[in-house]
Amino acid sequence: MGFKDLRLFNQALLAMQAWRLMEYPDSLCAHLLKARYYPRGCLVDTSFCSNASSTWQSILHGLELLKQGVIWRIGDGRKVRIWRDPWIPRELSLRVTTTKGRQRSKWVAELLDANGRQWDFNKLIAMFNPADADAIARIKIPTHASEDVLAWHFDRTVKIFAWKLSKDILPTKNNKFKRKLEADGTCDLCGLASETSFHAVVTCQQAYNLRQAMREHWELPAEHRFAPSGPDWLLVLLDGCTSEQKENTLLMLWRAWLMHNNITHESGPTGLEFNGKGKMQIGSAQSGLRKEASNPRETWSHPSDGWIKLNVDASFVDATGCAGTMMVARDSEGRVKFTAWRALFNCASAAEAEAHACVEGLRLASQWCHHPIIRIGLCSSELGFIIAEGKELSQLLLELKIVKVKRDCNKVAHELAALARRNTHSAVWLGQAPACAIDIINADCIQPPA
Ligand SMILES: [Zn+2]
Repeated sequence: MGFKDLRLFNQALLAMQAWRLMEYPDSLCAHLLKARYYPRGCLVDTSFCSNASSTWQSILHGLELLKQGVIWRIGDGRKVRIWRDPWIPRELSLRVTTTKGRQRSKWVAELLDANGRQWDFNKLIAMFNPADADAIARIKIPTHASEDVLAWHFDRTVKIFAWKLSKDILPTKNNKFKRKLEADGTCDLCGLASETSFHAVVTCQQAYNLRQAMREHWELPAEHRFAPSGPDWLLVLLDGCTSEQKENTLLMLWRAWLMHNNITHESGPTGLEFNGKGKMQIGSAQSGLRKEASNPRETWSHPSDGWIKLNVDASFVDATGCAGTMMVARDSEGRVKFTAWRALFNCASAAEAEAHACVEGLRLASQWCHHPIIRIGLCSSELGFIIAEGKELSQLLLELKIVKVKRDCNKVAHELAALARRNTHSAVWLGQAPACAIDIINADCIQPPA
């Protein structure tokens, strides 16, 4: 199992701990946290500062992740802000994506009819773009009076997964083979067995490694209980577990399934830098990189005064050749100059997708940024292709530096590239960012200028 999987898994664990804190706000731990980190506010509204003691750092990190995974379930709509809160249950963005413009309505309650028992559909159509209006109209309003409550979106995802696993309807190769969608049902990862759902999440080597690694942190059922006891193996396994074991087991099986399926790309940092006149300055790039690598915060850093920083990234799925790219340009104050994303088809590799992102980012920058200097952060290791095209485009720019950054420092571009891919959507926003990106961008910009 790679480092990345462990890290993602740790994130899930931290978010779950944070969720327990929210479920039991009277616990000592919750009181301490609140007193110190969000004395006045509500947890999900709080921006966390980075000077916390190391003891709390990991929990704060969990809270931050939790903020990204919570969703309001609408009751009377009086606590939920239309334009800011996550309240729309869908994969793309839990927040409204329509631009607010001059609209005055603030609370979700204002979108309900006079009785407060159903949506005012005319209002929805008038106020929101069709995607938002449609998603909101699907939200069921409870038939009896009730308050809005915060829930964990992530939790729902895991439950749906568990249901599919128990019914054996996950899109495994074996299931696809049975439906004649695949020529054979052998597991692509190990090549040793038919890829049934039990194999994918329990016996395949990766799943096994994940489980053993997690045993060090989590309470899981004994190994002999992960047995192929028949079609009801999951029920048999969960039967007799404590509720904590159940939760841990489902989360782990879900993670194993994602690992099995996500063919994602991630590379370590190396550096390269050149200016717009075509002179490569590899030496200075490497010294710049060392600085970046030794930065323990690992977040996006502001460019110096008069610079624009352009972050680009791509998300690529090997099996389909589909990719998404994302470019975001910000100035030294963290103000967005432009954001853009693009869905790509028939890409050969992650490096190619990243190269496209880079070239497109440069093209947009040369059109829309009037600052003298552009700086790019990207994560790819194959820059040859970019340099050729980049040189041409950068004739239009006074000076250009390319700096490879760690994925953590490239969060906005990374997450939105995946969105563009899943949504097969392309767009450019000048001077602003799509609504689903604003929170990530703000979180980036909390850091003081470097
Ligand atoms: Zn396998």
